[in-house]
Amino acid sequence: MDCYFCQRNIKEVDFKETQLLRRFISSSGKIKPKKKTGICSSHQRKLAQAIKRARYLGILSPTSK
Ligand SMILES: [Zn+2]
Repeated sequence: MDCYFCQRNIKEVDFKETQLLRRFISSSGKIKPKKKTGICSSHQRKLAQAIKRARYLGILSPTSK
């Protein structure tokens, strides 16, 4: 599986794209493992940062409902 972000040539993960971020969060509120989502390690890191920031700003709930 190819990395979602590499595939679309997205270099930075936008923390405001909560709809998108949610796709990579499991029902328990954790970031899904790379081998499940196919995200490369550099984007996985950026994704984690974006999710952290979105939660900090309160635009992304800690757990998905
Ligand atoms: Zn990537």
